Amino acid sequence: MRTGVNPLIVGNWKMYKTRDESVAFVSALPDALPEDPPGVWIAPSFTSIHAAAEAAEGSSIVIGAQNMWFEDNGAFTGEISGRMLVDAGAQFVILGHSERRQLFHESNELVQAKVKKALAVGLKVIVCVGETDAEREQGKAFEVLETQIKACLAQIEPDESTIVLAYEPVWAIGTGKAATPEMAQEMHRHCREVLKKVWGGKISEKILILYGGSVKTDNAPFLLKQPDIDGLLIGGASLSLENFSKIINDSSILVSESKRMSGL
Ligand code: PEP
Repeated sequence: MRTGVNPLIVGNWKMYKTRDESVAFVSALPDALPEDPPGVWIAPSFTSIHAAAEAAEGSSIVIGAQNMWFEDNGAFTGEISGRMLVDAGAQFVILGHSERRQLFHESNELVQAKVKKALAVGLKVIVCVGETDAEREQGKAFEVLETQIKACLAQIEPDESTIVLAYEPVWAIGTGKAATPEMAQEMHRHCREVLKKVWGGKISEKILILYGGSVKTDNAPFLLKQPDIDGLLIGGASLSLENFSKIINDSSILVSESKRMSGL
């Protein structure tokens, strides 16, 4: 986390929580947030988006989606368009999550098409990249990230207010085996270097890069202390109000400490 950057904490609820459960969580969260919270975004299931967005009204919580298709309408049985997400109250969409890439065979080219459409309909995007265990063992982690970032974002107009990158090593997602803060920092720095090649220096310093992969209450503050980690994308631990709000409150304490230390 860099001084002056407000961190972003995102909950990815995957295929968990019914509408009532989502509304109960979103309604209770504001009371558990600090006075000056970081950005808090939640991606519930499609069927909960509308109700969760209504429950979030009047709070700083932002509701989004976990995926979308890149066409506006058409014969795409089972898919949902960006326009439909906006209509339901979503303000952002997670794209290229490793579960989409692995289980549903999404390619970088498809992710880029989705990014284009999401931005065109007014959604913010979180674009996920990350290497597998095998790729890391073969020494290919840096190369894989570079390929993914270039192929997902090269044709996209840079804009730090609408595009967020998430580094999520596949081996760390849902496994309880998080990257160490130092390892995550090294990869985040690399992501920023690649963004610099794609979009130039100024913008690459402004883009938020989130870490995701087995973030829990005990490792979140250490990850957030790293200079190039601007926030967290959290799966499992975001399902518990207690854990999610603890991570948010701890990140707010870190922001106050870093402001105090830099005399801001
Ligand atoms: C995720 O779903 O993006 C994720 C990082 O999951 P978990 O925190 O459970 O590893």
